[in-house]
Amino acid sequence: MAQSPAGDNTPPVRRFQPAAGGFRWHGIPRRAYKSAGAHFRAIQRQTLFDEPDQLGVQVRYFEIGPGGYSTLERHHHVHAVLILHGKGRVLVGDELFPVAAFDLVSVPSMVWHQFQADSEEALGFLCLVRCTRDRPLRPTAEELEKLRSDPALARVIRP
Ligand code: MN
Repeated sequence: MAQSPAGDNTPPVRRFQPAAGGFRWHGIPRRAYKSAGAHFRAIQRQTLFDEPDQLGVQVRYFEIGPGGYSTLERHHHVHAVLILHGKGRVLVGDELFPVAAFDLVSVPSMVWHQFQADSEEALGFLCLVRCTRDRPLRPTAEELEKLRSDPALARVIRP
């Protein structure tokens, strides 16, 4: 029988399950984005591929509910993101970008980033990361102040 690159018993095909208000895949649990913290809002996570041995990467699906946002953070590892549905905006470095379905977002190493859903609509995206990766860093008070020195960012970023 064919095995997944991870060598476990994951079947070769796992079906997409249409669901109201978001995306699901058969047999893949939905989890909270992070276990604790007040620096994010309304996010669910599903790990679609977890391939530490052959590929060294994970593909995660994140769904940010209307008005929700991910942690403002940076780290050495990079993200390659494909927006799947909804609308929102992304902070990358010191720039804000509107995003919608099928846009591609590259987050370079040690660059501040935050994903935000539209206030009316959830934002769903795939995020590719290395399995072996460093822990995210949150901005210090000084770093936050520097980001907020741009009024456009000050209005939008959620620390
Ligand atoms: Mn990140």
